[in-house]
Amino acid sequence: MDPTYSAEAQAFRAKIKAFLAEHLPADWKGLGALGSAERSAFVESWRTTLAENRLLAVAWPTEYGGVGLSQIEQVIINEEFARAGVPQGVPNDGFGIGMVGPTIMVWGTEEQKKHYIPRILSGEDRWCQGYSEPDAGSDLANLGCRAELDGDEWVVNGQKIWTSAGHTANWIFVLCRTSPHNPKHAGISFLLVPMDQPGVEVRPIVNIIGGHEFNEVFFTDARTPKGNVIGEVDNGWAVANTLLGFERGGRATSLYITYREELDRLLAVADERGATASPMVRQKLAWCHSQVEVMRYLGMRTLTRTLAGDRPGPESSLMKLLWSEYHREVTQLAVDIHGADAMVMAGRAAASGIAGDAVGSPSSSRSWNEVSMRARAGTIYAGTSQVQRNIIGERVLGLPKEPRTDDGPWRRT
Ligand SMILES: Cc1cc2nc3c(=O)[nH]c(=O)nc-3n(C[C@H](O)[C@H](O)[C@H](O)COP(=O)(O)OP(=O)(O)OC[C@H]3O[C@@H](n4cnc5c(N)ncnc54)[C@H](O)[C@@H]3O)c2cc1C
Repeated sequence: MDPTYSAEAQAFRAKIKAFLAEHLPADWKGLGALGSAERSAFVESWRTTLAENRLLAVAWPTEYGGVGLSQIEQVIINEEFARAGVPQGVPNDGFGIGMVGPTIMVWGTEEQKKHYIPRILSGEDRWCQGYSEPDAGSDLANLGCRAELDGDEWVVNGQKIWTSAGHTANWIFVLCRTSPHNPKHAGISFLLVPMDQPGVEVRPIVNIIGGHEFNEVFFTDARTPKGNVIGEVDNGWAVANTLLGFERGGRATSLYITYREELDRLLAVADERGATASPMVRQKLAWCHSQVEVMRYLGMRTLTRTLAGDRPGPESSLMKLLWSEYHREVTQLAVDIHGADAMVMAGRAAASGIAGDAVGSPSSSRSWNEVSMRARAGTIYAGTSQVQRNIIGERVLGLPKEPRTDDGPWRRT
């Protein structure tokens, strides 16, 4: 069931391989092989290289600054970059190129597309996601951050939380309540808000391994122009869901490559430590292998649908559920294989870890331990596993919906 790429597509692959060979250091082993300071510097300069060579978002249309290639070329870049262990941009690009850009392309006006899309590519605008609030996570439509029109501007008041990469962003897309008397899903708008203004305060949250990746964001009379609504006013729920499809479906065709590399690294550790003598460990490793293979096949299915022009919809929850639950299990197995040694934070730190560790990462006990703690976040962000199961049940399999008690007006008016 390996996909057959056309000769043209394979020629493009050869070009990408040649680009990587030309621009990466001769001794390149993957992003995970770099120390943390070196890694940040590399990621920034690599983004510049990608922008200069027009390799960011190659399938975006030329009229908005893209290259106008097809999804197949984008998939080939995803695959080759994943194999080489190089990123496709800085962390904020996950929100700009991965989420808000494609969403603006679906819902934005011509003027919004012409303004925002090129600025995402140039890196002038760096985005983060203002969805979750202390009282609105899984029940996202319960959000209470308000936006009210004052002349030609929206005035935003409220709080967001868990805002990843908020401290390196200068724009935030915010779900706001614009009509508090409407039913809760029908009073929300999707606003683009500049962060460099006195009414926006970003406070760090330190995670379980001592890292600063997400934040709280407070809005106190923050302002944004009236025209910065994507989709219609009060139609933000539909826009929000389009974006979540892009968030959950991102890199679905190439994720297995990173997971394969990580699992191969764990197999080597298991062998070195004599753990493969245990039938229990062998059984678990075989399960991990099967999950990575399922990921590969699901990726091919996504590829087929992407090439047919489909946008990621509720089915993206299948891959999100699979990779996040798998990663929690495989990293727990890594900790089990290290046994008591896993309690000693020895060796180099992990390079990443929510969705598969970076290629070239160290196999130190500290690294596996950290990756295992961060893997837990994968089953929470972009919707928890329980929420993905609800989506799969109701929107993919068409099972009866759970009874709802919250379809009246939003309650906190
Ligand atoms: C690493 C990380 C990065 C994040 N980055 C961002 C970001 O950049 N921007 C942003 O807006 N948010 C972000 N989030 C927030 C994330 O989207 C929320 O944490 C998530 O949606 C869950 O919401 P909650 O934390 O409020 O948990 P809750 O919604 O309170 O859930 C608590 C528990 O109840 C379960 N539960 C809730 N409702 C149901 C239901 N209907 N059926 C079954 N079980 C249910 C959940 O599965 C969970 O186990 C991030 C989270 C993490 C961990």
